[in-house]
Amino acid sequence: SWKGEQNLMGKVIAVANQKGGVGKTTTAVNLGACLAQRGKKTLIIDHDPQGNSTSGIGLKKSEIRRCIYDVLINEVPIAEVMVATQVENLSVVPATIRLAGAEAELVGMMARDQRLKRAIEPIKDTFDYILIDCPPSLGNLTINALAASDSIIVPIQCEYYALEGLSQLMKTIQLVQKYSNADLKIEGVVLTMYDNRTNLSSQVTEEVRHYFNEKVYKTIIPRNIRLSEAPSFGLPITLYDEKSKGAEAYIELAKEVISHG
Ligand code: ADP
Ligand code: MG
Repeated sequence: SWKGEQNLMGKVIAVANQKGGVGKTTTAVNLGACLAQRGKKTLIIDHDPQGNSTSGIGLKKSEIRRCIYDVLINEVPIAEVMVATQVENLSVVPATIRLAGAEAELVGMMARDQRLKRAIEPIKDTFDYILIDCPPSLGNLTINALAASDSIIVPIQCEYYALEGLSQLMKTIQLVQKYSNADLKIEGVVLTMYDNRTNLSSQVTEEVRHYFNEKVYKTIIPRNIRLSEAPSFGLPITLYDEKSKGAEAYIELAKEVISHG
């Protein structure tokens, strides 16, 4: 087979957890940027109507004409909606608030849970990694993301009740495996917003490791103010503050993801 633009790894990973504020978008943007900076051709698909990864990577929402909504609902080819970012090797398929309508509109459609999968197929092998930033729900958008993915990364915030709601996520994964995507795997679990000043964080870490065993990444993302500032500048952490603890952590996470093949 010939090498070049085609025949890259083509691995699709959903970043999912139906809890909001656990670090899905922060992980999609910064892991995506770090993979790209390590030479991996990477695409982030913003699959959340909030569009936080779209703005977080530096796109102006007011300037976006077409978004992932048009891909899902109007069958616009994903290659026409994809845009390059300021990070070399990193592209993004943006989301706007119009995507909120898709949740209900998908209900009456043919192959409603396969639409993202079909949209990705033609471009899959032109990327090494395709990360899908999921919304904080287990509705049609997340189901589409899981159906389209080879695996899932679950960010878990180090806080009380960290594991709450995860059995629901696991049930959803099992249903997707049963009905549409038998090969869907858990890529890994990433602990986020770790605060080493509290015992709580280490207790939660232990609990999550007990539940998910070797699926938990060795890299733990610390609570780091620079990570929360970067999106308002439209920059991934490695461009905003390369020396920060947050940048170091996401660089390490990218290495781990790559080494797991
Ligand atoms: P989700 O996409 O799961 O809703 P986000 O990634 O948007 O979660 O994170 C929620 C909020 O927490 C955002 O304001 C984000 O900037 C902040 N945040 C995420 N991870 C960290 C971290 N490791 N340290 C500090 N703030 C963080
Ligand atoms: Mg988000």
